[in-house]
Amino acid sequence: MTNKRSLVDVINPEIRDFLVEMGAEDIYKCYQCGKCSSICPWFQVGTYDFPIFRLPLETALGMVASSEDKKELEEEVDKIYRCVGCEACVDQCPHGINIPNILRAARRLLVDFGSYPDILKSIVQKIHDVGNPLGEEREKRSDWAKQLNVPNFQPGIEYLYFACCIPSYDPRVQNVAQATVRILQKSGVSFGILGVQENCCGEAIRRIGAEKVFEEVTKSNISSFESAGVKNILVTSPHCYTSFENDYPEFGANFEVFHITQYFSGLIEKGKIQPIKSFDKKVVYHDPCNLGRQNGIYEEPRNILRNIPGLELLEVENFNRSLSVCCGAGSGALWMEWEKDERIGDIRINQLVDTGAEIIAVACPYCLQMFEETIKSMDLNIQVMDIAEILYESLG
Ligand code: SF4
Ligand code: SF4
Repeated sequence: MTNKRSLVDVINPEIRDFLVEMGAEDIYKCYQCGKCSSICPWFQVGTYDFPIFRLPLETALGMVASSEDKKELEEEVDKIYRCVGCEACVDQCPHGINIPNILRAARRLLVDFGSYPDILKSIVQKIHDVGNPLGEEREKRSDWAKQLNVPNFQPGIEYLYFACCIPSYDPRVQNVAQATVRILQKSGVSFGILGVQENCCGEAIRRIGAEKVFEEVTKSNISSFESAGVKNILVTSPHCYTSFENDYPEFGANFEVFHITQYFSGLIEKGKIQPIKSFDKKVVYHDPCNLGRQNGIYEEPRNILRNIPGLELLEVENFNRSLSVCCGAGSGALWMEWEKDERIGDIRINQLVDTGAEIIAVACPYCLQMFEETIKSMDLNIQVMDIAEILYESLG
């Protein structure tokens, strides 16, 4: 990631071989066309130089995460942790090269040497110690459901509802989990929660590079789910979806995973729930990277919104579906602090506000938190709601 040293000084086959072993094998497919850089949200931010197209070649030369100079290494670490894992580059690369995987390999090296941002060290430590990134007590994980009469999951129950850490603890986002439960109860579906037996899904810490802690929480979750007899999982967060659906099978897991928008859309189609109360608002839907581009779930969230009477559904022209721009919170970036003029969230909020919407509909707790904080910092007047909250209001 740096050009300050001469090539003779920096070529390091050992680093290259380590990174390839850690998942950077795509480096040999790159032909330096630059398409990845032009689609990357940092290109739209414009105030931070992030020439990501050089990464495969620099990795092949062993130049990444290799500096022995403290200041140069700090600059490298800053660059390596700018990637929000949105996978816009993967989607556009003519050779399907996975840049975030190359960066994740570099992050694994940095984590092994303890050379990664302090704030992310504290997130990894909290997940290791208490099973959530907020550092909240494990015993309080199901407090959000106290007034809702939700059973603990046991054999015979059809679905585990996995609320995710942020809706479990954050007072604002708890409303999303509560609305979800109330909708599920109205539909009559059999579901339960595991509460204290759950850990964070680990998606963010895998992408931060903390593979060992990720493996610990993954194995612990798989063991808890299997001992309880879980077969089907409903999730609120697309990040949990990615973990359970795409990452956990590497560790032998075999669960049917449904994002809650898929499930709610199906309930509406089957007539098990019916939105009847008018929601007379202009609503723009933001495709979360992990739900849309990374898992192909574009239609179901829109189908729910289209079925709500009175709701006018808007789109961000040119930047929706696979071209949606990240909220800026993925791969650990939710916890990072960048300069005011270097924020991906500001770019995305401006695109959403420009549609003339009164409400931004989201289907991801990270997007919800990131957008609400961004709106506050930009002093804008637009509301953010999860689709579950909108649907619940419309069920009357
Ligand atoms: S788009 Fe793909 S091939 Fe082109 S520079 Fe980027 S990684 Fe290399
Ligand atoms: S994953 Fe997103 S943020 Fe990371 S390099 Fe690719 S386009 Fe840029």
